[in-house]
Amino acid sequence: MLKLLVMLLSILFNPITLIVVGWLLISFLVDLIIYLQSTYYRETKASYFSSQNDLGRYGEYLTYRKLKSYEKQGAKFLFNTYLPHKNETTEIDVIMIAPQGIFVFESKNYSGWIFGHEKDKIWYQTLPAGRKSHKEKFYNPIMQNDTHINCLKALVDKNIPIYSIIVFSERCTLKKVTTTNKEIKVVNRKDIKTAISSLTETPVLSPEEITEIYNKLHPYTQVDKSVKLRHIENINKLIENENSVAEKQHLCSKCGGKMILRTAKKGKYTGMSFYGCENYPKCTNTETTTDKLTGIIKYDYNDKATRNEQLEKLQNKTNEI
Ligand SMILES: [Zn+2]
Repeated sequence: MLKLLVMLLSILFNPITLIVVGWLLISFLVDLIIYLQSTYYRETKASYFSSQNDLGRYGEYLTYRKLKSYEKQGAKFLFNTYLPHKNETTEIDVIMIAPQGIFVFESKNYSGWIFGHEKDKIWYQTLPAGRKSHKEKFYNPIMQNDTHINCLKALVDKNIPIYSIIVFSERCTLKKVTTTNKEIKVVNRKDIKTAISSLTETPVLSPEEITEIYNKLHPYTQVDKSVKLRHIENINKLIENENSVAEKQHLCSKCGGKMILRTAKKGKYTGMSFYGCENYPKCTNTETTTDKLTGIIKYDYNDKATRNEQLEKLQNKTNEI
């Protein structure tokens, strides 16, 4: 017993163990301090934990980190801006107001291979699934960001250039993504700065103008919970309407029963719409819906490999409220 204890202590106080533990601790602290001093934290008040574990937030934070150096040039940032859109709201992940103009970012935390054209309504993600590959659809993020930009244009001076940048995570490969509009870029996160300088390098906004735009838009980031909740409700309603027609001929692939649109009432997926077999609990087959507005792609609840990474913004937002 004593021998074991001595062995354990010697492992614990072994210089290598101490160096490793110390190094981990220091790098964690450095990371934490950088986070707490960031504009992202100041603006969103999101905890360090949620910035690391919430996929939507993590993507936004990483995008901000890549753009941080523009702050030295006088750029200002806005996160999670809820702009009026018809009678509802639309949410912009990241806006950068820089001397070169306004940049509107839409983050997509997908993996696999991405295919899509600027003019196509539906884009595709291909994931390896055993020997076969597995294809998923998602709503064209350029069109999604166009909606954002149009809402933004209604609020700022028409002469200010606004650029659209779709940021995909490093985990995916942009296989065949084509754009013709010169004010739009679709890139992996690492290429974000190259994308900006290829769009424009000419300063058009003075520090005063930047501050003015920032002050005008900032209140839209400070919306209360009821606005966020209504935003989610509207999205859910939209999915419901879209699917009510399809539902009639929608049958279970496992038992032939009717698939019914339901909303998860508990667990990780609370608030999310999904299709469940009418023969539940005898048949547990479920399918998800595609969300046009947020671009969340359809995925299979039974497919554990893709499940976690598909739980994007909408789910995270529901959890936060
Ligand atoms: Zn069934």
